[in-house]
Amino acid sequence: MIAVDGLVKRFGEVAVLRGVDLMIAKGEVACLIGPSGSGKSTFLRCLNGLERFQGGRVAIGDLVLNAVQSPAQHATAVRGVCRRMGMVFQGFNLFPHQTVLQNVIEAPIHVLGLRRDEAVERARRLLDRVGMADRLDARPRELSGGQQQRVAIARALAMEPEIMLFDEPTSALDPRMTGEVLAVMTDLAREGQTMIVVTHAMAFARKVATVVHVFGDGRVVESGPPLQVFEAPAHEATRSLLAEAQ
Ligand code: ADP
Ligand code: MG
Repeated sequence: MIAVDGLVKRFGEVAVLRGVDLMIAKGEVACLIGPSGSGKSTFLRCLNGLERFQGGRVAIGDLVLNAVQSPAQHATAVRGVCRRMGMVFQGFNLFPHQTVLQNVIEAPIHVLGLRRDEAVERARRLLDRVGMADRLDARPRELSGGQQQRVAIARALAMEPEIMLFDEPTSALDPRMTGEVLAVMTDLAREGQTMIVVTHAMAFARKVATVVHVFGDGRVVESGPPLQVFEAPAHEATRSLLAEAQ
């Protein structure tokens, strides 16, 4: 479903990604772990077209992003890529002046062209799935961080993405709210949603990931099933990361 080959990303002189190779199959839950500053967020931003990169290629099904295509070719590919990917960030990126319901129906109506009643029905179903069906008329500021993040997940799902990207979705939350959000993500994973999750929540990665990729020094230094990576880490970078997380 996703194939990344030799991805190189520089900011000026600094090479943040120095040749990342990664494959993600349909239905996989891939957790990306690695020290702060190892390029995990940058990687996600290259994957969904938010950043251009200097080398290598990203293929999402038949859509290709690479370093040599023209800005127009890149923009066309990015439009397709964005339709296939939903993204949930660390911060809460809900529209502050809209209600929960309005946040979730906005893109399906304006981007997918759903009728309002269809979009509302889809939103109700998804908000029910994330445990927020009783807060349709609330504004984001009236919700806890965990509730906002669950609405953000419903909003992303409303576009029916093939792939969900999560960039440290719980790192701004206290433990109880973290638990609510990880529970929703665990349900999604069990239902077969393809997911790429950047996280420091090692217990979640251990329990839910089908594959763990360890970022270090601008590359993926180690990949494997969670048991293998956590119980028998092959790379020094993984061992020090796990020791820090204890
Ligand atoms: P991670 O998500 O793994 O913590 P990031 O992808 O956020 O890492 O950052 C990797 C490196 O790239 C860091 O050194 C960061 O300072 C740098 N970086 C990220 N974004 C930019 C940018 N827009 N301009 C310059 N440097 C950046
Ligand atoms: Mg990051």
